Amino acid sequence: MLKFSANLSMLFTERPLVEIQFPYELGPADLQRLLAENEQQLVLINVPAGDLMQGGNGNACVPGEEKNFRQAVAQAAEYAAALQVPTVNVLAGRRVPGLSVEACEAVLGDNLQYAVARLRDAGATTVLEAINVFDMPRFLVHSLEDMQRFVHAVPRLKMQFDCYHMSRMGEDVVPVLRDNLAQIGHVQFADSPGRHEPGSGRIDFRAVFATLRDSAYASTRRFQAGIENGSAVRNNPVTGRQRQDNNKTGASANMSHCVFCKIVAGELPSTRVYEDADVIAFMDIFPLRRAHVLVIPREHQQHLHRLPAPLRERLIQAGARVAEAIYASALKPAAVHYMINDGPQAHQTVPHVHLHVLPRFRGDGGSFLLSLLRKPFDLVLGPTSHEALEADAAEIRRQLERLK
Ligand code: AMP
Ligand code: ZN
Repeated sequence: MLKFSANLSMLFTERPLVEIQFPYELGPADLQRLLAENEQQLVLINVPAGDLMQGGNGNACVPGEEKNFRQAVAQAAEYAAALQVPTVNVLAGRRVPGLSVEACEAVLGDNLQYAVARLRDAGATTVLEAINVFDMPRFLVHSLEDMQRFVHAVPRLKMQFDCYHMSRMGEDVVPVLRDNLAQIGHVQFADSPGRHEPGSGRIDFRAVFATLRDSAYASTRRFQAGIENGSAVRNNPVTGRQRQDNNKTGASANMSHCVFCKIVAGELPSTRVYEDADVIAFMDIFPLRRAHVLVIPREHQQHLHRLPAPLRERLIQAGARVAEAIYASALKPAAVHYMINDGPQAHQTVPHVHLHVLPRFRGDGGSFLLSLLRKPFDLVLGPTSHEALEADAAEIRRQLERLK
């Protein structure tokens, strides 16, 4: 059986994100097809953990298992590379009875170092998760301090911060999350003590989300955060049931998880250049070129053909207006691309119609290609700051004023 942990995407996400703890019963190609069909992106997998899920000690902290661990990492790396999974979790495993904690930690440390390097080659960040002692006695990494120690010792290793496990271990989740943000590579949400959806227990998730949102601009896409929803966790990617659950409330469910709807609502920051009753235009935070602007309808629709015709017209009008302003600006572009990626197969990463207005400059051929190649590394390189975008945005706004 596949154990499928489906997460409703919540913050900073561009299409429904899913975690599949152990996806290995399907080949990467089959999985890729299923994910594409369901318009989902896989954001987290675990390194195969040996016999851990059958009650054994696993493979990461057990002397003599190093070879098996490395094979497991190679398999995770293959999936991560093929499916562009940004984050891979290592399960530390159980302390081997009769061995000291120190002996097991030494093995784990070496293995983590290996995993970080190997998975980095595959484009993924390695994270280490603490699991509370009540649910998994003898689990080697069970506290915040345990995670911190390894993250400190192994360069580029990040924490997988599971609000539930932290709360069960007596941590005050909000301040601890805030204080460790820079070392966190993935956040999981389930309430405590029941491990059900946020709101079902005692964690202050409003404050958790506010903390993440406040850090959103600095780390959009770094946190592939999702709500681990009690019911969704049991779903199965093969039957596609998770998708039905997600869509239960139709457009409103999509909207509440859509990063551009959050921008429309002002829940996420944006560097705006234009807005009216129907559309808004703002700077792309992972710009391919200077003055890369996105124009979106306020209404949430994934596909252009679903957008009411008058809104389509408003979208194009606003895009042409923005382009006209860019042409008139001190930037003096030579040409402009108008682009709409419609559907994930066409590289639509945000499921909310958007028109790219992308200026081209004389002689930018080579660098333009380079900026396209950079795209997959947005995650690592991080977004452009509001301050950096604001200079060109201000100039575009000025020109738009002039053109009125
Ligand atoms: P596409 O690949 O056509 O779906 O383009 C989506 C665009 O949205 C990409 O160029 C992203 O860099 C951009 N993007 C994603 N998140 C944000 C955000 N929070 N603010 C501004 N632009 C974003
Ligand atoms: Zn939307």
